[in-house]
Amino acid sequence: EQAGRFKGAKLRQEITQLQVEVLANLNQVQTKIALTLGDITKQGDVEVIVNAANKSLLGGGGVDGAIHKAAGPQLLAECRQLNGCQTGQAKITGAYNLPNKYVIHTVGPIWNGGAHGEADLLAACYENSLRLAQKTGLKTIAFPAISTGIYRYPLEEASQIALATVQAFVKANPGAFELIKFVLFDQAALDCYYRKLGGLQVEL
Ligand code: ADP
Repeated sequence: EQAGRFKGAKLRQEITQLQVEVLANLNQVQTKIALTLGDITKQGDVEVIVNAANKSLLGGGGVDGAIHKAAGPQLLAECRQLNGCQTGQAKITGAYNLPNKYVIHTVGPIWNGGAHGEADLLAACYENSLRLAQKTGLKTIAFPAISTGIYRYPLEEASQIALATVQAFVKANPGAFELIKFVLFDQAALDCYYRKLGGLQVEL
């Protein structure tokens, strides 16, 4: 049963990637948008991974902890020089022991009911991360589901914002990126992103 479930997940992942590639080609956009189930510290096919950091930039739990652990102590040493980061903003560092060139640290909003500017701040995280990567000359990037863990942003809303913001950036900057990957840590998150793409709530 365990093997069957694994196969199902694997197949769904393949279908998801295919579907997204087809959608992107239909629009003759040079950017491939991919959904992947996995760990963002193990994405060797992208130049930069995005960290869902906190304002201190001094490490934390969740994806932030995993990134610092995999990158090694030199990442923390570089982050100490940055004087933190405001919510919605982004800063770039080296990637050290990670299989990437850079890490972009962005600070997502803490969910507080939705009437405190959360949506704009979350969109700003994606937008500012993409701008910073583009400015640095990078063509391939991976995002986690920012704010949807410890910061409690509901996945339905957060995934819609993530996909719509990336879609808008790709339309406004055609060819700026070759690959934009969303690395989802569990099946529920992958399903949610997949539904948003498959149901064409997000038009690529
Ligand atoms: P935030 O404080 O922004 O909510 P978290 O790290 O708590 O950040 O969670 C953000 C998302 O990252 C969650 O969906 C969580 O499941 C996911 N996540 C946690 N560890 C990893 C990892 N190693 N790779 C990719 N995603 C991860």
